[in-house]
Amino acid sequence: MNLLATNVSGIADEFDVIIAGGGPAGSAAAIAAARAGCSVLVVDRGIHPRSKVCGCCLAPAGIEAIVQLGASSVLNRAQQLSTVRLECGDRCVTLQRGGGVAIGRDELDESLLGLALHHGCTVVMGAAASFDDDGSVAVRQDRIVRKIRSRVRIAADGLQGTSLDCLSKFEWRVSKSSRMGFGATVDGAALDLAREQIFMSVHEGGYIGAVRLANGRIDIAAAAHPSVIRDAGGVAPLAVRWLGSHLRSGSGLGAAEWRGTPLLTRRRIQLACDDVLVAGDAGGYVEPFTGEGMSWALATGSAAGSHASAMIFTNASSEKWPSITNRIVRSSRMRCLITAHLLRHPRLLRSAIRTAQFFPSLADRVASAFGSDIDAPACSRICGKAPQ
Ligand SMILES: Cc1cc2nc3c(=O)[nH]c(=O)nc-3n(C[C@H](O)[C@H](O)[C@H](O)COP(=O)(O)OP(=O)(O)OC[C@H]3O[C@@H](n4cnc5c(N)ncnc54)[C@H](O)[C@@H]3O)c2cc1C
Repeated sequence: MNLLATNVSGIADEFDVIIAGGGPAGSAAAIAAARAGCSVLVVDRGIHPRSKVCGCCLAPAGIEAIVQLGASSVLNRAQQLSTVRLECGDRCVTLQRGGGVAIGRDELDESLLGLALHHGCTVVMGAAASFDDDGSVAVRQDRIVRKIRSRVRIAADGLQGTSLDCLSKFEWRVSKSSRMGFGATVDGAALDLAREQIFMSVHEGGYIGAVRLANGRIDIAAAAHPSVIRDAGGVAPLAVRWLGSHLRSGSGLGAAEWRGTPLLTRRRIQLACDDVLVAGDAGGYVEPFTGEGMSWALATGSAAGSHASAMIFTNASSEKWPSITNRIVRSSRMRCLITAHLLRHPRLLRSAIRTAQFFPSLADRVASAFGSDIDAPACSRICGKAPQ
């Protein structure tokens, strides 16, 4: 697949829908809008294969969203997941948590964009989109700038997106207690980690997770308060400390290509205005612990594509978009916020794990924090002491 085929100078002046961002939200929006009969332009700043800080665990709700998009082939090479091993201080628990998969972000994002191309969308990579207040989109690729017009513009450019920078109505509200994300993909021999298992380790000031991808490599992702990263001397030393005895000697973590994110817990003041809809992380994010960001992005992206087509073909208004997107993510976002709050108190989590030894239903509660609970019984097996 050649996602670089389209040069910005060769594309049309006008589309029904222009989407900034070709991550899960942008691709889902593009596929949904194209399936509804719209002409679609997707613009992404990155060039594949591009990496993204992500735990790479796709929850059952995300799998369902991909199936609904007619994109199940994307999951052919994903790694099935069956358990979560959760460690906190000297306690650990292994929870049965089937139904999810691990999939590398370069692979998932490139496959979804490929599907958007297959549905007739125009995809421009290596170009930044900026929504202007005259209703156009400025697309910059190398030294060329094109002004393209559309009926609907969708901002799906994630936490680090810049497409809305010129529209002050869409400012961010960032939580003061927010953590930052960081991550890397490392050699499969770096860590003791069972296939089909998500490993999570919770500490004062943050947590770290790891999962084995289908190609055998290990994806590591973490969230930490900026002061904790600073005190540890950077993200690599912090990862080494938090992964502790699970690391094999010569793991090479220090030499890995670590990437970071801005502060994670944030929301846009507005999610829609006139012809603009905001979807996925570009609208807001909480924290990665529950592994739902991609599911939210796919669901809100897909709904944004459908709503854009309703705005074009039936004169629906963008005013309804905030309530549509809130309805999609409200309950799982609330659970994620509560989980993020509890994780600020690892002592509570340690006590919960210890108590769960005697009350398995409590362990089920802990397990339900990991993604949405779709046909995945969360019966648990308690392990007791974690290796120190
Ligand atoms: C540490 C960490 C771990 C995580 N773990 C998980 C997990 O295990 N499971 C899970 O479901 N979620 C996880 N997430 C969340 C998940 O990564 C995001 O929620 C998801 O990627 C959001 O998708 P998106 O399409 O909204 O944005 P993104 O995936 O960020 O895509 C945005 C795209 O927009 C492009 N872009 C940016 N600006 C512009 C511009 N001006 N013009 C054009 N293109 C632009 C970027 O190149 C990018 O391709 C994790 C997040 C973090 C930080």
